[in-house]
Amino acid sequence: MDFKDSPAQAEFRHKVRQWLQANAPADNTLSRGGMESDEAMREGREWQARIYDAGWACLTWPKEYGGQGLTAIEQVIWSQEVAKFSTRDGFFAIGIGNCGPAIMLYGSDQQKQSLLPRMARADDIWCQLFSEPGAGSDVAGLKTRADKDGDSWKINGQKIWTSQAQYADYGVILTRTDPTLPKHKGLTMFFVDMKQPGVEVRPIKQADGGQAFNEVFFNDAVVPDVQRLGELNGGWGVALAVLMNERLAIGSVAPNGWPEYWDMIRKLELDGKPALEDSEVRRRTADWYVKNAGLKNAQARMLSAVANGGVPGAEASLGKLVGASMCQDISAYALDLFAEMGVCADEQMALMQAQFQKAYLYAPGLRVAGGTDEVMRNIIAEQVLGLPADVRVDKGVPFNEIKAGNIRQ
Ligand SMILES: Cc1cc2nc3c(=O)[nH]c(=O)nc-3n(C[C@H](O)[C@H](O)[C@H](O)COP(=O)(O)OP(=O)(O)OC[C@H]3O[C@@H](n4cnc5c(N)ncnc54)[C@H](O)[C@@H]3O)c2cc1C
Repeated sequence: MDFKDSPAQAEFRHKVRQWLQANAPADNTLSRGGMESDEAMREGREWQARIYDAGWACLTWPKEYGGQGLTAIEQVIWSQEVAKFSTRDGFFAIGIGNCGPAIMLYGSDQQKQSLLPRMARADDIWCQLFSEPGAGSDVAGLKTRADKDGDSWKINGQKIWTSQAQYADYGVILTRTDPTLPKHKGLTMFFVDMKQPGVEVRPIKQADGGQAFNEVFFNDAVVPDVQRLGELNGGWGVALAVLMNERLAIGSVAPNGWPEYWDMIRKLELDGKPALEDSEVRRRTADWYVKNAGLKNAQARMLSAVANGGVPGAEASLGKLVGASMCQDISAYALDLFAEMGVCADEQMALMQAQFQKAYLYAPGLRVAGGTDEVMRNIIAEQVLGLPADVRVDKGVPFNEIKAGNIRQ
């Protein structure tokens, strides 16, 4: 593992920095979590089109599909540099990070050519339709059905927590195609047109006033078989490829709050003295400094492996597990330090444009999105540390014989 840029990488980083300094909005990174408004989405689409047109979007994708044919290392350099600015890349993390690889791996040449460049430029927005009211952590327990109807499929069921579905043109959906098989085996993946008849999107209003998620109802929504991604009943393998990319993407870009905290704590005064003279502040700061260094090193090790031809492994779960709770702890502590100003979340009035107030509200979601803390711990325990597997009483049992698995026949 080498932490220093090679001469070619240093040159690339220099070019990225120059371009970002000339084109990106000013620094205010933690508040990127506030992505719920139509205005934020408009800004996000403009930004994505600008980076696409300048040749910085989807760097690892082949050129014919809207990318630049570069390696994971250039992508990481770009992500590290762009994270220092207040850009709204988060909107497209699911489309570009999860749906893109699914289309790249399982779509036809014609589908890749027509869909991927539009996805890369945010001309089309994509969403991921996996979770259901009774299937989140245990997503393989989902009940939305796809039934064959000539050369097409009819989809019926309900999805939930679908980020950005209210804007989406397309979605990647995991469905049950054979309930007589064990739960992981009877699933098939498709991509669907989100604007077609039979697809109804109902936004969910959040406690913080935002509206990032949706419920999505499918009532006899017709999907041609050419929109199937992968083998019939082979959807679990497709989902795993997508979820591993998601954990790597979330783990590498999710804010852990450290840079903003370090910037704030060096300037803050408590009772007329620098906050860093306080022993409790010093203790916590040292702890987060160490955690941040650990995260950086673990990420560099994983990326070195990816750059040397490996695939993102279960270690990707580590970044998300540690980074998300660190972001929650840091933002809660910052609000305590701000005393009565901690409750003011108005960007114009609050300290540091209310970055910590916003992070305090969205950090719990980071601990759930893409797999909860407990699920991450199970993955790390089983796949990294080699500990015994979680008890799975439904292993190998046909889905329609599992008590919770009875679905409309
Ligand atoms: C910000 C955000 C964005 C999201 N975007 C999307 C999206 O775009 N598309 C989509 O499909 N979904 C999305 N989700 C949904 C997300 O994937 C699910 O919320 C997540 O997988 C957890 O599922 P659940 O909410 O049903 O909780 P449950 O699975 O019901 O979990 C409830 C509790 O039980 C615990 N638990 C569950 N299983 C185990 C186990 N085996 N061992 C120990 N503890 C366990 C969990 O850790 C949790 O504490 C999003 C969620 C968030 C917060």
